Amino acid sequence: MNLQRRNILRGSVAAAMALPIAGVKAVELTKDLKWDMETDVLVLGYGGAGACAAIEAHDAGAKVLILEKLAQGGGNTAVSSGGFVAPKDKKAAYEYLNATYAFSDSEKDEKLLSTFCDEIMGVKDFITGLKPETKLMIYGHAGFTTLPGSDTIDKYRVRGKKRGGDMLFDTLRHAVEEVRKIEVFLETPALELIRRGEEVVGVVANRNGKNINIKARRAVICSTGGYEYDEQSLRTFALGRDILGLGSPGNTGDGLRMAQSVGARLWHMTAYSCPLGMKVPGLKAAVQLNILAPSHI
Ligand SMILES: Cc1cc2nc3c(=O)[nH]c(=O)nc-3n(C[C@H](O)[C@H](O)[C@H](O)COP(=O)(O)OP(=O)(O)OC[C@H]3O[C@@H](n4cnc5c(N)ncnc54)[C@H](O)[C@@H]3O)c2cc1C
Repeated sequence: MNLQRRNILRGSVAAAMALPIAGVKAVELTKDLKWDMETDVLVLGYGGAGACAAIEAHDAGAKVLILEKLAQGGGNTAVSSGGFVAPKDKKAAYEYLNATYAFSDSEKDEKLLSTFCDEIMGVKDFITGLKPETKLMIYGHAGFTTLPGSDTIDKYRVRGKKRGGDMLFDTLRHAVEEVRKIEVFLETPALELIRRGEEVVGVVANRNGKNINIKARRAVICSTGGYEYDEQSLRTFALGRDILGLGSPGNTGDGLRMAQSVGARLWHMTAYSCPLGMKVPGLKAAVQLNILAPSHI
């Protein structure tokens, strides 16, 4: 199933992927720069994060435009298992998630973790509110059963005939496109941010082979996913070589470079989660290895 999905994506993205994006600089707004179009909130990347940001901005009264680099939305969100954690108790969830930091090479931001635990209590209602008749199912529990609070953690996904990620993204897509009629430009990669001093005021994007300047009156939201299909980022951040990605090939770290072009600091770059796989001579795709819990390395 993964392989089929990857082949579909590989065919549809060749044109968009060919656009170079390395060494991105932000464009300084000058009086000569002409805007081709404008919106309130401009969302870069139409995966789960972009869809949710667009929904929230729209519901807060903003006019929203989403730019997606590939010929279809979804990103890693659509090829994922679509699972999300929904704890029964906020305090226990904090205790559990806080304890998982002992296993990761990861910076902790207490305020962010606490906000995450507040917000995660509403995730089930958020998802079922996106589309009528959406049903959720419990498909798993806490990954680390010996940690405090683990017995209060359940993993959910959207019930349906397709795989979890497709079910989740179909639900988000319905809320974005059918319910809210938010405009989505496919095959329109964002290339550079446009800045006025310290403020990001728009984006240069490529649409139908032409670069256009899109003004964002309120905000630009950068939700362009990860870097697993960018060799250089893999070497720099994942500290490895010959690592093969599993997911959407649109994720080449564009947003990370755009954010850096306006001075953003990156964090968590070396902390990542991935299934193990191996490359077999003669096969283009990697083969995933499933290690059955509670095995350990
Ligand atoms: C096989 C697999 C299984 C997973 N299972 C789970 C799970 O069960 N639960 C879980 O929580 N997480 C899971 N994950 C991780 C999860 O899928 C991701 O963390 C999540 O989907 C990221 O969402 P996102 O919106 O940030 O990025 P994505 O969903 O990857 O979306 C990014 C989008 O931005 C687009 N884009 C990139 N560059 C540009 C550009 N320059 N201009 C415009 N658009 C651009 C991309 O094409 C893509 O559509 C899994 C991941 C994989 C690969």
